[in-house]
Amino acid sequence: MKNIILIAPPAAGKGTLATQLKEKYHIPHISTGDILRDVAGRDDEIGMYVQETMSKGALVKDEIIYQLLEERIKEKDCQNGYILDGFPRNLEQAKRYDEILEAVGQSLGFVIILDVDKEVLKKRVTGRRICKDCGAIYNINIENNMPKKDSTCDVCSGALYQRSDDNLEAFEHRYQAYLDMTEPLIDYYGEKGVVRHVDGGVSKEATLKAVEEIILEKK
Ligand SMILES: [Zn+2]
Repeated sequence: MKNIILIAPPAAGKGTLATQLKEKYHIPHISTGDILRDVAGRDDEIGMYVQETMSKGALVKDEIIYQLLEERIKEKDCQNGYILDGFPRNLEQAKRYDEILEAVGQSLGFVIILDVDKEVLKKRVTGRRICKDCGAIYNINIENNMPKKDSTCDVCSGALYQRSDDNLEAFEHRYQAYLDMTEPLIDYYGEKGVVRHVDGGVSKEATLKAVEEIILEKK
């Protein structure tokens, strides 16, 4: 199976897709955030550096991230493919990632971009309601995801609330940041011929199927 770099705008369903792939194909879902959290628990030099840096709310040096990512993708569970999420975030990281791949004998695979119409994303974000008691998630803008009774959880009758950053203004900000970040990456990977666009505005089953056709090279 091909390795994947997963790129998607906010609320496009990236987490859901990664979980589906992980469960079905038993491939790891790698994010640099998770790697750093794991390493912060180690009591060697890097572990202590990462822990200290993160506790100060500062950014871990890119050099350390490259080293940790290299260690991670050398592991056995990555030999049949893996999903990379949240990295690379810029051109320099993309170029360094190429070097890391060469050093460990892995291949780039495909860069999968989950495309969802901006208006659909807006509806998903602004309609999201969460149960304060059991954490169930609903969407008042999406027919088959609405709670049966307004602002009440179907499961436990708890009250539903809206997260403070699930508003239009915060969405516009995150969406613009996404476009600014991904444009150079899409150009870079586009030239390598590895970018594949997948429709994330359909059902999660249909999205998964489209991704499967790519990574299993049925097309
Ligand atoms: Zn509930």
